Amino acid sequence: MRNIDRIYIDGAFVTPHGSARFDLFNPATEDRIGSVRLGDAEDVRLAVAAAKRAFPAMARTSKAERIAMLHRLRDAVKARAGDLIAAMTEGYGAPAYFTGFSVQNTASVFDVMATSVENYAFERVAGSSAVTMLPLGVVGAITPWNSNFGFIATKLAHAIGSGSTIVIKPAEQSAIQTQVLLECLHEAKLPKGVLNVVNGTGPEVGAALTTHPDVALISFTGSTPAARIVQRAALETMKRLVLELGGKSPTIILDDADLDAAIPIALMSGFANSGQACVAGSRILIPRSRREEILARLKDETERLRIGNPADPEVRIGPLANAAHWERVQGWIRLGQEEGAMLLTGGEGRPEGLDHGWFARPTIFTEVAGTMRIAREEIFGPVLSVITYDDEAEAVAIANDSDFGLQAYVLSSDEPRALRVARQLMAGRVVINGAPHDPHAPFGGFRQSGLGREIGAYGLDAFLEPRAILTPAA
Ligand code: ADP
Repeated sequence: MRNIDRIYIDGAFVTPHGSARFDLFNPATEDRIGSVRLGDAEDVRLAVAAAKRAFPAMARTSKAERIAMLHRLRDAVKARAGDLIAAMTEGYGAPAYFTGFSVQNTASVFDVMATSVENYAFERVAGSSAVTMLPLGVVGAITPWNSNFGFIATKLAHAIGSGSTIVIKPAEQSAIQTQVLLECLHEAKLPKGVLNVVNGTGPEVGAALTTHPDVALISFTGSTPAARIVQRAALETMKRLVLELGGKSPTIILDDADLDAAIPIALMSGFANSGQACVAGSRILIPRSRREEILARLKDETERLRIGNPADPEVRIGPLANAAHWERVQGWIRLGQEEGAMLLTGGEGRPEGLDHGWFARPTIFTEVAGTMRIAREEIFGPVLSVITYDDEAEAVAIANDSDFGLQAYVLSSDEPRALRVARQLMAGRVVINGAPHDPHAPFGGFRQSGLGREIGAYGLDAFLEPRAILTPAA
């Protein structure tokens, strides 16, 4: 049993003012594994006050000092990689291939930011004016459960890189992950008040943070509906916003694709993190000329995916994060059938042989029209829609016909052709032929997938603002 009773304010683990508790479960077993004591608005006030006190000194730090902090944070995360993986597996059920990647990426986020700081021009000249890129003040950050510690690290890296201080409200159901990560970050010995973390719910702690007058910028990762509430809350005091939200990412299989390579990539992208990934390729666009062949391969390979114990390295699909989310995903599978789509594989209920744990069946719909809700809205589970196109131009049009624009995937044997298609897609990232993750590429989306970008100079730009000083000509 893990009972998390502390939050992190002004460089120390402290007992929150809030006293409500939230139960924590292992989604693979449905066992209660602990609870977290939640903070409240008073805790947010204390955390923001600490961050505000620490800001002037942090804003004055040199590049070298920020880089040194980022390197200490990287080393501190690497030192407890195994504990972070265990916390993510137990509290969330992410498959081993994903937890391993997450921890590696969490450490690399600090390294990437160190390089970005090194190369970033904080001092510039425009005309005859001297321009300085300045941090804004206290950053308020909010993270989701699907990659909680990775996003905490990303947002902290941006705060340090820009010379800001930060108050983070992590996903409350990820409290064990948050605790282990905080123990790591504490070892990096940041100046007091630079990092503050308050566990709590969105409507209480999230709302207190997004309305606090001393918070200058909100960096939010989560769903588009919650982001609308955050954006409204931020309006009053004109907070700057960086929003990384949902997606309905297209995977375009071009008619010359080598299916031996393309089908596993399409399924890996679609079922990434059991479908609980904002970047999941949840719409698979296939050419009519090869429809039957591709459908047969999608069905066969999906039915061979191993589902179950997330700690098993061969497992590709783990449980959904919680019972309410399992119910929601079941609702989407019912809705798809009511809308007239056909099940190629999967369907409602649990996979065969798994009678407990919040496991859903990997599901693929065909006969999906672009107007159906299953083709337009984010499901955030292992439920994919296959849409048939006649030619390349139609594939591009369908891919771009979305309220979202976070990520897109193109699969082809002809790389120049894939590039030509990629250049027509309105998405924050376009991945060609399963290219490996690039930790330096900007991350964020067009349209309702977000606002601004994270990572590298693009991420720093969003956390900084230019001040120009004009002097009389000599
Ligand atoms: P997810 O389903 O991925 O958790 P949400 O958008 O619901 O997506 O949650 C993402 C984060 O936003 C969580 O930390 C959640 O507590 C927080 N959140 C939810 N509602 C609000 C709100 N009204 N104000 C601020 N934060 C919120």
